[in-house]
Amino acid sequence: MTDPCPTADSHARPAAAILAALDSSASGLTAADAAARLARHGPNSLPDEAPRPAILRFLGQFNNALIWFMLAGATAAALLSHYIDAGVIMAVVIVNAVVGFLQEGKAENALNAIRGMIAPHASVLRDGHRVSVGVADLVPGDVVLIEAGDRVPADLRLISARNLLIDEAILTGESVASSKATDPVAADAALGDRRPMAWSGTLVASGQGSGVVTATGPQTQIGQISTMLGEVQTLTTPLLRQINAFARRFTLFAFAGAALIFVFAVTLRGFSWEDALMAVVALAVGLVPEGLPAVITITLAIGVQRMASRRAVIRRLPAVETLGATSIICSDKTGTLTRNEMTVRRVVTADGVTMVQGAGYDPTGHGFAPDGITRDLLRAAIQCNDAELRPDGWKVEGDPMEGALIAAAIKAGLDPAAERGAGRLDAIPFDAEHRFMATLHALPEGPVLLVKGAPERLLTMSGDQAGASGPQLLDAAFWTDRIDEAAREGERVLAYAFKAMPQGTTGIGFDDVQGGLTFLGITGFIDPPRPEAVAAIAECHRAGIEVRMITGDHAETAAAIARQLGLARDPQVLTGQDLDRIPDAGFVKAVARTQVFARTSPEHKLRIVRALQSQGRVVAMTGDGVNDAPSLKQADVGIAMGIKGTEAAKEAAQIVLMDDNFASIVAAVHEGRTVHDNIRKVIGWTLPTNGGEALTVIMAILLNFALPMTPVQILWINLILASTLGLVLAFEPSEPGVMARKPRKAGAGLLTPFMLWRVCFVSVMFMAISLAVFFWALGQGREIEVARTMVVNTLVVMEIFYLFNIRYLHMTSFTLTGLKGTGPVLAAIAVVVAGQFAFTYLPVMNGIFGSRPLGLMDGVIIVTIGVLTLVVLEVEKHLLRGVFDDD
Ligand code: ATP
Repeated sequence: MTDPCPTADSHARPAAAILAALDSSASGLTAADAAARLARHGPNSLPDEAPRPAILRFLGQFNNALIWFMLAGATAAALLSHYIDAGVIMAVVIVNAVVGFLQEGKAENALNAIRGMIAPHASVLRDGHRVSVGVADLVPGDVVLIEAGDRVPADLRLISARNLLIDEAILTGESVASSKATDPVAADAALGDRRPMAWSGTLVASGQGSGVVTATGPQTQIGQISTMLGEVQTLTTPLLRQINAFARRFTLFAFAGAALIFVFAVTLRGFSWEDALMAVVALAVGLVPEGLPAVITITLAIGVQRMASRRAVIRRLPAVETLGATSIICSDKTGTLTRNEMTVRRVVTADGVTMVQGAGYDPTGHGFAPDGITRDLLRAAIQCNDAELRPDGWKVEGDPMEGALIAAAIKAGLDPAAERGAGRLDAIPFDAEHRFMATLHALPEGPVLLVKGAPERLLTMSGDQAGASGPQLLDAAFWTDRIDEAAREGERVLAYAFKAMPQGTTGIGFDDVQGGLTFLGITGFIDPPRPEAVAAIAECHRAGIEVRMITGDHAETAAAIARQLGLARDPQVLTGQDLDRIPDAGFVKAVARTQVFARTSPEHKLRIVRALQSQGRVVAMTGDGVNDAPSLKQADVGIAMGIKGTEAAKEAAQIVLMDDNFASIVAAVHEGRTVHDNIRKVIGWTLPTNGGEALTVIMAILLNFALPMTPVQILWINLILASTLGLVLAFEPSEPGVMARKPRKAGAGLLTPFMLWRVCFVSVMFMAISLAVFFWALGQGREIEVARTMVVNTLVVMEIFYLFNIRYLHMTSFTLTGLKGTGPVLAAIAVVVAGQFAFTYLPVMNGIFGSRPLGLMDGVIIVTIGVLTLVVLEVEKHLLRGVFDDD
């Protein structure tokens, strides 16, 4: 019988033994073997939490103070033998619950769908090549490469570890990252002391390593303690909480008001207590915006969906709101504003400049014959290099700049595979902090240290330079000129140097690279700006949003690219060093007037965000590295790169860009502004239409005349509108000018002064018109039932026309598109109109609601009133928008 778990003591045995036990090797599995193992072991994922059963979600809709109140009202009505009222109240309750249930389901589906879009990937060796696969596809025996910023994708027995520190707090609670190594430890070592293991779900804080997968999915340590990874999106945001709190307060206020009116009606107006009770129940039902939270949730969810379709995946719902208020976007350069498609354009050595032809990674047809130093330089460039360039389609696995170096070397006639055959003994991986990468190679002439990195950095490490006839004294001024020359053209510049190491050297450290290097030369890469970024920056400028570039690249390169992008004609540039020298007192001012920050480190990003926030700006900030997490968290909107970004950055961010593209940020801002507009429209429509109905009845009770609508009629209006007009504003497309206005002020509430005015003005207007219609009809000698039917129809028609008015908050609704409406608007109106016809003309409805058929002239009058309402509200919008100056 075989051992049930051959890897249970992986930490106590050498890596080679574990590889053998798993029937794998240091070059990984074959794709076919991996597929077979996947079928056997199942996906590397933890079972999802069971979704809440539909019936419980439905019942959850009834867990709401207003619904209880309505149920109490229905019971009271039934006890008083007002069966019709009881039935209609129940219908309102059920319609609301069904609408809430369906919308909540839709919102949850939208969030679930986008969750799948940011499923993490891992780098593994398959068929001897490094490839990126979905974490769920990992199988025991896979060899996985990990580096700073990664979440360890499965339980791994480490095969190599270089300065590897892993934060295991999620598993052990230990907040200090543990240092990893490959040597076996005692079999009974505690989880946190098993140094040669990397546990699924823990975070690589720094360094690099590789390991063989020993357990996946539920078999991993984290799977065994069955903790769910990552945070689960919740369907709530500060805004939603604000709305819920508002709805609760409003409900209390409505109940208190209803109680007062009840007492008033019974004591001073001689109502029977049953009639008064029915009236106030209807009033409360009519007044309270019970559907509002559900509609706003769906508005946000639609925003999330629209953003996802524009390649911006929302990880935390509040970002949808904040995005719309963004007043400044701080963006990385490489890959976000530029394409991150690198091509080596020039190679400069002490001997001369070689211009390299071609664009992209395909080296065919652009061969050239390099001189001796150029050849040495390119050889160093492909050895001190972790990328792979696949000849099938010329695709790069790894860093695009390193891929471009391989392409250039092939153009120069070098064979990367053969050159790399020379064993690499050790490496110091690239880090944005120190801006270079170093490798140690066993070459025929002895161990050689190769370094590539930011040129200024390498110049300080070098004492001499490679010349045609051997090493010469380093001419730093010459190189600075060459670097500036290339950078001014917008080229990204990288330098190369080497050092012969003493025989027997097998490892390198930072001390080895500090001095005594021989400078080989530099390469200049072109990385063209993304054309859509140019357009997006122009759009930002129109929308009053400032754009800042924060890059690790050279100041001249960054400034040249900023000009090409139209970010500024003559950009102000500060480097990380400049920032360090500015005294605290002047820091905020200096940052505020700078468009380009070059040679910055992640700490600078954090200081820049804070400085901008201290000026009241709403800052969106992009990032990709493990050290970007603090600034992404600090920013009002943290945005991580989906392709290039580390897991650490993605987890710290609120938004992940699927395509790393600046234009997607701007698209998301556009959608964010639309969501905010739509929420305001929903509120702006709901409150006054409720208010209008309620005021009409309150006036009747206070001034002591017959009710212009019976309680059951008020309930009818509520019933017909809750699932129709009240919902469609959530689906509104953007208004044409959304990106032509300034960002809204930070912290501006939803109910701006204009909106408050609107709520009062429209409520009073609806009340006045309803009463006018009521008394006019009575004055004509019509029956009171007919007058009431006219009032109900007038109110509903006015609400339809008001909907057209509020669909455009920032411009007139009298445009062809505005008057045509949208599919959802027209469908909702069709339902409402059909409902009103039934209410007015169907005998059974006349029986239930006490309504009466109306004549054609009555209909004409009602529709004319609706049209006039729209005209008045359009004039009012036109005149007053400027006065309130809301956004
Ligand atoms: P951005 O911050 O806009 O993405 P960036 O890509 O230039 O810009 P970093 O990745 O932090 O920023 O790189 C900073 C500098 O480090 C580069 O300008 C380059 O000089 C050097 N560098 C980048 N990648 C490597 C690498 N793989 N090997 C050696 N040096 C590198």
